[in-house]
Amino acid sequence: MAPQPDWEHLQCYAGSITAADFERLLQQVYVPDGSWRQWISLTPAQATITPHQGALSIILPLAPPGSPVKTPPRFWKERGQRSPQPGKPLAGLRIAIDPGHLGGSFAKMEARWFEIGHSRPVEEGEMTLIVAKLLKQRLKAMGAEVWLTRSKNGATTSLRPDKLKKEAAASLQEEGAPLSSTRLQFEAERLFYRVGEIRNRARLVNAVIRPDFVVCLHFNAEEWGDPERPTLTDKNHLHLLLSGNISGNELLHEDERYTMLVKLLGGTHHEELGASEAVARSLAAATGLPPFIYHSANAIPASSNPYLWVRNLLANRLFECPVVYCEPYVMNSRPVFNRVQLGDYQGQRNVGGFSLPSIYREYADAVAQGLADYYGRAAN
Ligand SMILES: [Zn+2]
Repeated sequence: MAPQPDWEHLQCYAGSITAADFERLLQQVYVPDGSWRQWISLTPAQATITPHQGALSIILPLAPPGSPVKTPPRFWKERGQRSPQPGKPLAGLRIAIDPGHLGGSFAKMEARWFEIGHSRPVEEGEMTLIVAKLLKQRLKAMGAEVWLTRSKNGATTSLRPDKLKKEAAASLQEEGAPLSSTRLQFEAERLFYRVGEIRNRARLVNAVIRPDFVVCLHFNAEEWGDPERPTLTDKNHLHLLLSGNISGNELLHEDERYTMLVKLLGGTHHEELGASEAVARSLAAATGLPPFIYHSANAIPASSNPYLWVRNLLANRLFECPVVYCEPYVMNSRPVFNRVQLGDYQGQRNVGGFSLPSIYREYADAVAQGLADYYGRAAN
């Protein structure tokens, strides 16, 4: 489902990075298991990139050590390229907000829905959209231009699972999974909401909105089991995700190698780290949540900040600009479930003995504050 990579396009990054920085980003952020060496070799003067087995190499000239690097061609501005105005810390910024998931009639299909008895259903796609609309008002008030990748529940792509049966069969075959009609349907649905939908949002971001950065909004969850008899938990936590940590197996896919290089050579990591650090600080202060800790190989720490992790998601790799990807709150923790039951409201309410704002406003206020802290400061 990925478009054919245009490897010659990488030539536009000639002279925009030194070999030392290229290697540091590959080894510490994007492909820390070192398997990039099968595809890329570096000398101080050039990178030799193999597009795919048997193809002619792409030779990318690198910036000589110690000399100034060229700014790579890109549609987004760094923090240092703009000057905030007094009272309008986000003036001149173009921001896309991506409310995670589809919600509405697709919430059950995408397994982002549960309810307890006659409770208000907990639907991540609906919840992220409420936060997105509140966040948009706050960012606009601080001077930014703001777009949402979706402004209602549902899909932005015209693809649907019944149009993806051929792709689903191919994908199951590649995994070596047995073909049954149930598995085929399940895989076609996954390709629709997880792949086709995200690819369309990336097209909107990279070709239409072309923002300075994207804020991806999510709510986290622990395994809840049966969505009509979900397990509630005492665990509640926060983390943010940066793009990278691609495994050797993932790197076997030509489109993953290509989009990783576009992301790396575009110079997004530095801004992702700075903006995510500021938003992690404000979200942690507002929510009091402890950091989530990954115990699997699919994420690595981004820095000494315990809230920041690097993980290879389609939804942060395909966006060619920096991404601030938020994963606060465990939806099936008891306190979060109770707050979701109250819906959105102004001011404070008593929640289990604590006077609290609506969970949606707490989330939106904290993200807006973090972005103002980061982009409102003059860069040094
Ligand atoms: Zn999510």
